Amino acid sequence: MLPSGNQPSAPIGAGSIDDWPSKDLIGSDRSGLPPAGETGDVDAVLAILQQVPDPEVPVVSVVELGIVRDIDWQDGQLVVSVTPTYSGCPATEAIEQHIVEALVASGYSNPLIQRRLSPAWTTDWLTEAGREKLRAYGIAPPVGSASKRSLTGQSDPVVPCPLCGSEATERVSEFGSTACKALYRCRDCLEPFDYFKCL
Ligand SMILES: [Zn+2]
Repeated sequence: MLPSGNQPSAPIGAGSIDDWPSKDLIGSDRSGLPPAGETGDVDAVLAILQQVPDPEVPVVSVVELGIVRDIDWQDGQLVVSVTPTYSGCPATEAIEQHIVEALVASGYSNPLIQRRLSPAWTTDWLTEAGREKLRAYGIAPPVGSASKRSLTGQSDPVVPCPLCGSEATERVSEFGSTACKALYRCRDCLEPFDYFKCL
């Protein structure tokens, strides 16, 4: 022990004041209020989720896919809101499981995934980085805006070939390697490719 010097000596048992009220008690008193002092962690969580790939298109993270809608804390529990790419997409549960596993591995015990169905996901939510990665991976990113398309009733868009850039492409099948994609073929380089359908 160092000599206390000029500092007043602490009364016996003062240290225990720091332990009360317990953090759990404070947490329960905060219910309904925004979490205090934890907003800085959103970036940390986002950085973890940036590493979680979409199972169907592993080059794109769930963040780039645009399905992570919110990161929040409710009574100290991390809550991540996820919107499935479309209802019934078989990958949704796998994606949610991967997000939980990544968060737990990074020290977030017991994160909660909240499935948010409304508003529905659209390909408009794909980030620019996500579109770029799709193209580099050989998948044509969605062309145009989903909301504009549904207004104008526009039919098949011109989908440039992700491999050579040619616009001389044709749709081979409405369904590609997964239901979210259509199969196209380039008439110039003759390569088939997936088109991430505009939803
Ligand atoms: Zn081509």
